[in-house]
Amino acid sequence: MDMHIALVPGDGIGPEIVREAVRVLDRTAEIYGHRIEYSEVDAGGVSIDKYGVPLRKEALEECLSSDAVLLGAVGGPKWDGVPGDKRPEKALLGLRSGLGLYTNMRPAVIYPELSDASPLKSEIIASGIDILILRELTGGIYFGERGRSEDGESAYDTMSYSKAEIRRIALKAFESARLREGHVTLVDKANVLESSRLWRETVSEMGKSYPDVTLDYMYVDNASMQLVRNPSQFDVILTENMFGDILSDEASMITGSIGMLPSASLGDGTRGMYEPIHGSAPDIAGKNVANPTATILSVAMMLRYSFSLEKEARAIENAVKSAISDGVRTADIAKKGEDHVGTDECGSEILRRLV
Ligand code: NAD
Repeated sequence: MDMHIALVPGDGIGPEIVREAVRVLDRTAEIYGHRIEYSEVDAGGVSIDKYGVPLRKEALEECLSSDAVLLGAVGGPKWDGVPGDKRPEKALLGLRSGLGLYTNMRPAVIYPELSDASPLKSEIIASGIDILILRELTGGIYFGERGRSEDGESAYDTMSYSKAEIRRIALKAFESARLREGHVTLVDKANVLESSRLWRETVSEMGKSYPDVTLDYMYVDNASMQLVRNPSQFDVILTENMFGDILSDEASMITGSIGMLPSASLGDGTRGMYEPIHGSAPDIAGKNVANPTATILSVAMMLRYSFSLEKEARAIENAVKSAISDGVRTADIAKKGEDHVGTDECGSEILRRLV
């Protein structure tokens, strides 16, 4: 297969971790006989420094003409004084809206060897955790009508969804469940919110076309408890924007390893943007200590969701698992006193285990 990938290394540790992810991707392509053409795109602080804006039209156009975008991270203290609409993070919003990305996918996985890093008790995570959260990204209360009364004594925000908005992300939830354990949990507040009742109706109607997928429902307050009480009951969680914002952060914290978690943002068609969930970690930038695993696993998601290359995606995930079980640790996941490797060596150890 021929692939055209836009690389957006960004700021801080971005360039270091993207470099390792590209090495792993190149080796995977070599093993499985694919050809990749890259174009490098400036976004975030680096773009502010060069061009005075976080995302140029040309940068977005380059991403729009690619099959997939791999992003490191943007931002850092250097640009803290920059006015709101010119901040590095605006590049992310510009890319998400410019690329029409309405589904955010975040896996939360605990590797048995790293279970010590989880703040949860060992008996709770003993059976392993592998959750995929699908959060709606462009609708709901963050985008609804809002305002204040004339006297300033009250304010309102509006949560609104259309069936079309629900259907397009629910489709992705059912399809991804088929590649996993075949179980979707819709998280909502249907006992109170009318928009949640529309989610339930629409998703349950669609569920009839997926008899092989188990569909159940959970109120968001219960879901937030269940994530810490019994997280292994979940496979795919489907939810609206604000609930997903909160639950996906909660789910990533229970894994205890921010440097290990990838994400994907998808729209119509197959183009997507893939990035680690962590930020640009300015405190460790340029020191060759950042964990590149989240970015490497983002590449696995890219192969799975943008190119339907499941075998290749699993090859990367298996190489990561094997490196972890062989004791390869960057400083963030090493126990006190345990040996650890640098960013580049971690990349090499994963690359070496690719088959
Ligand atoms: P952060 O995720 O960058 O860092 C939080 C902590 O986790 C730091 O101690 C950092 O060293 C550590 N860490 C993060 N990634 C790591 C990795 N791969 N390996 C080892 N340790 C890692 O969050 P922050 O400090 O709140 O934000 C720093 C900057 O990143 C800010 O400018 C923020 O706006 C930006 N940010 C960007 C994104 C993004 O680009 N998607 C996301 C979050 C934050």
